Amino acid sequence: MNKIKILHMYADMLDLYGDGGNMEIIGYRCKMRGIECIIDKYSVDSPMPDFSSYDLIYIGGGADLEQQHISENLQKCRDGIESAYKNGTFLFLICGGYQLLGKYYLDADGNKISGLGLFGYYTEAEPNRRKRCIGNIVLRTEFTGKTVDIVGFENHGGQTRNVKTPLGSVLCGHGNCTGGTHEGYFEKNVIATYMHGPCLAKNPEISDYIIKYCLERQNGSSVTLRPLDDRLENDCRRVMISRLLKK
Ligand code: GLN
Repeated sequence: MNKIKILHMYADMLDLYGDGGNMEIIGYRCKMRGIECIIDKYSVDSPMPDFSSYDLIYIGGGADLEQQHISENLQKCRDGIESAYKNGTFLFLICGGYQLLGKYYLDADGNKISGLGLFGYYTEAEPNRRKRCIGNIVLRTEFTGKTVDIVGFENHGGQTRNVKTPLGSVLCGHGNCTGGTHEGYFEKNVIATYMHGPCLAKNPEISDYIIKYCLERQNGSSVTLRPLDDRLENDCRRVMISRLLKK
């Protein structure tokens, strides 16, 4: 039987707008296909895990204060996360988690929180706290090999710059920067995004991309996932997209 092992980091502190639900969705979509899914949690007082033993590492979003609280501990995990990533473990990162794997996050009070520097982007918050990127967002993506429009909800002060390979282009909303054209960061084994929601509940293609990637990496050969009945998800998304893109 196929099995996916997930490490959900800082679930007790980085969990905005239903981010924890993303792991429930992965678990559900695995269960519906007879794939076993193990979700371990890691937080500041946990023993150091063997990061490379996981197929997927997940970090959600959080307010500046929570990001500060976990930052010292996150640095201790740096080498472990880096070797897991280089070894092919999938990294799925939302908002605050997305920011902290880049070079740094300069928060609205001018505090600089060091990131892990795994990726070349960096984030600086708008000093004016009222100028946040808030609202529903629609992206056009190609990462699955097909054009897929995805929806989510963003709420961040951070402006993420120097993103070489974004997740998608913005059809509605802000994305990496205020009024921006692109959102998120993408590599074969990395999806980092500002989309809360939880975004996997709204966009089944992202979950299935991650599940497929993990199984193919284990098997060393191509995997076809059994399709699930996503009519409800797709109908909801269609309504949201038509509402948001209506001029
Ligand atoms: N605190 C960060 C910001 O405001 C991240 C927020 C979040 O995770 N939604 O940009």
